[in-house]
Amino acid sequence: MYVRKILLALCTLCLVMFFLAACTGASPQDVIRDPLPIIDPTSTQLEPTTVTTIVAPTQKPTLTTTPVISNTPTIAPLPYFQKGVPELCDQSWCVYSFETPFIRPISVDYNQRVDLSYRYGSTQEGKRKVHKGVEFINPTGTPVHAIGNGTVIVAETDHFVRYGPVIDFYGNLVIIEHDVQDGDRPVYSLYGHLSEIMVQPGQQVKAGDLIGKVGATGSALGSHLHLEVRFGENNYVSTVNPELVLPPPNDPPTGSQTGILVLRMQSQAYSIFSIPIWVDRIDSNDTNPVMLESYFNKAPRSKAWDEVGVIGDLTEGNYHLSFYKNGAYFETTFHIYSGKMTVLDFEF
Ligand SMILES: [Zn+2]
Repeated sequence: MYVRKILLALCTLCLVMFFLAACTGASPQDVIRDPLPIIDPTSTQLEPTTVTTIVAPTQKPTLTTTPVISNTPTIAPLPYFQKGVPELCDQSWCVYSFETPFIRPISVDYNQRVDLSYRYGSTQEGKRKVHKGVEFINPTGTPVHAIGNGTVIVAETDHFVRYGPVIDFYGNLVIIEHDVQDGDRPVYSLYGHLSEIMVQPGQQVKAGDLIGKVGATGSALGSHLHLEVRFGENNYVSTVNPELVLPPPNDPPTGSQTGILVLRMQSQAYSIFSIPIWVDRIDSNDTNPVMLESYFNKAPRSKAWDEVGVIGDLTEGNYHLSFYKNGAYFETTFHIYSGKMTVLDFEF
């Protein structure tokens, strides 16, 4: 009986010791886990502060340098048809560089030259209507090209709709509204007397695209292209001399580009109107004098030049200009440079 009591006491002691050992023996794993959540928050707190200080300085210099680089004025579009700064000036004339977005409507394989007898503003000395365009005399079927990029806005006969002074004036015609403008004014080109129209209204065209063929429809006396240029509004009173916007053609004998003469006139003593003006080479005798009929207010003058006459295809060289007015003789000299525009101011 005494032995059983001792054995029971020993067993309970063993049990108590076993439970005590089980409670304290499993703890070492918890000691390792505890510090981890403490390290994690400190590492994530450091990350944003280091990122912001690194990103901010690298972004700032690139932002301040790019506006300076892109601030180059040469990228701005060229103001076509505007009066620029002369390259050189003599007593009564100045030379300007000539930039145009346009090409001539007739290719080098055909007659690219403007008809001398019926230039813009001419009346053929009173025999015909004031000319609001220029003529390119070529056989029927000669290809006609768009002078510049734009949208075809008219491609039909003017038998039903009036586009000029009267119905049946242009015959088959094409009008293009160009992408380029004169300041904020739209610019149009008109191709008249066509034998064939090869575009449709709404069609986008590029400079040089085939738009039709030369003919003699409408009021044409013979087969030729009538080219008109209109600034501001698409009507017969908004014309501009096409020789002011077309690139001068090349001279067949030399192959070099011709130049443009822009004539301006002022007079205190005389009322100015249409006068036949003679222009002839003085440093060569192989060219015939050219007659220019000044237009004054008979035909619209350009805003940029306020000119009274233009010859858009003179060979480079020295020239003599002369005319009679009320029995008095007036003359001057000037120089034409290849591919450039000579603006002559004549006061008398
Ligand atoms: Zn004409």
